[in-house]
Amino acid sequence: MALMTGAEYMESIRKMNMQVYMFGKKIENPQDHPILRPSLNSVRMTYDLAQLPEYKELMTATSHITGETINRFTHIHQSTQDLKNKVKMQRLCGQKTAACFQRCVGMDSFNAVYSTTYEIDEKYHTNYHENFKKYLAYCQTKDLTIDGAMTDPKGDRSKAPHEQDDPDLFLRVVERREDGIVVRGAKAHQTGILNSHEVIVMPTISMGEADKDYAVSFAVPTDAKGLYMIIGRQSCDTRKMENTTLDVGNEEFGGVEALVVFDDVFVPNDRIFMNGEYDFAGMLVERFAGYHRQSYGGCKVGVGDVLIGATAVAAQYNGVAKASHVKDKLIEMTHLNETLFSCGIACSSEGTKTASGNYLINLLLANVCKQNVTRFPYEIARLAEDIAGGLVVTAPSEADLRSPEIGAVVEKYFKGVSDVSTEDRLKILRLIENLTLGTAAVGYRTESMHGAGSPQAQRIMISRQGNLEMKKELAKKIAHIKA
Ligand code: SF4
Ligand code: FE
Repeated sequence: MALMTGAEYMESIRKMNMQVYMFGKKIENPQDHPILRPSLNSVRMTYDLAQLPEYKELMTATSHITGETINRFTHIHQSTQDLKNKVKMQRLCGQKTAACFQRCVGMDSFNAVYSTTYEIDEKYHTNYHENFKKYLAYCQTKDLTIDGAMTDPKGDRSKAPHEQDDPDLFLRVVERREDGIVVRGAKAHQTGILNSHEVIVMPTISMGEADKDYAVSFAVPTDAKGLYMIIGRQSCDTRKMENTTLDVGNEEFGGVEALVVFDDVFVPNDRIFMNGEYDFAGMLVERFAGYHRQSYGGCKVGVGDVLIGATAVAAQYNGVAKASHVKDKLIEMTHLNETLFSCGIACSSEGTKTASGNYLINLLLANVCKQNVTRFPYEIARLAEDIAGGLVVTAPSEADLRSPEIGAVVEKYFKGVSDVSTEDRLKILRLIENLTLGTAAVGYRTESMHGAGSPQAQRIMISRQGNLEMKKELAKKIAHIKA
């Protein structure tokens, strides 16, 4: 059985014994907590959609290892068509959840670790690639959700890992044993960790010899001994604990991030994919980041589709749908959103085969994609707020709307066009609030800025890949300059 149903996925996560903290307390059944459950529903969507015949081509693929039909989220890209299908699948999942569906970090680490382990083995005659292929086949056959963990807390940014006052601020190997290694440290901002069966850990920056112990990659189950998570707060998160569906804006779906602590976690030999080969840390980082920067040309576009749709509905409910400036702003939002999609498709179409046989995106175009993602969703959100109006942030609560005493007043004064109920008008405004200022703003706004690396990280890659010397030569030739 290589495809789980959504219900089977929920059950499989529920059976795990994860250590999850939130609001200073250990959470006993995190999957049932009202703040956390919407994030589980988002991952569930990646399973539910794979069951539907109309999405088979986007949501599933054939494993190049086992020949089985697998979920595309566990696939190793075999062609540029696979890379394009990945982006289209992410747009679809964004459209269906209006949230971060979390499973892409695993897919992106699969593909980055796959090609990097092959090249480490070529140079050092290690056995990482075979280890990884076995692990991958296990994840594909069981249809697991994997988290990809890269971002260390990093402490003083001006210092290398080994120079930090506290050596744990980058995750490292603290003990090497016959049967494996023991690791200590943490990974921050970990998307979807508590909805994942496993986590693949990778280094976060290029490293030198003095940082050898920090150049480590491996996989462990998310309920491994010594691993625990501390959930990050989201704006408006406790609304999910109030007796309201209207006020949360998106009742069913959400995302989640956490700090994940590795408190002397043991990793057996066959789950180690890098152990001291510091000269390959940069390659792994660059490839994982490249894949995830491509990803944003899909997922953010799908969420953007929902925001554009919500804005058009709000305009209609406000009675301004025909105003020419409103139409023009919706065109601008669409133009920006499709530009992001174009970048995601372009870096996929220009992908190339690696030495290991899988396909890597065009790194320059993937970085251009993500650089645009650090800007355009902000402009799309700004235009959404412009059209929707101030009621997005001043509307009374659902409790006021339902109140026997003042409900009729809320109903009366917040009515828009005559054929739409006040309740429906408030619902669409709350969705816009959720996407631009509430819990989903983590995924749509701040993550657009910092997820898969902050803007400056892309600019460094763009400067490396931009081939300025070649361009100078072009200009000199046209200008007949010989020197
Ligand atoms: Fe996937 Fe986007 Fe969430 Fe990253 S931010 S895990 S690409 S949905
Ligand atoms: Fe992300």
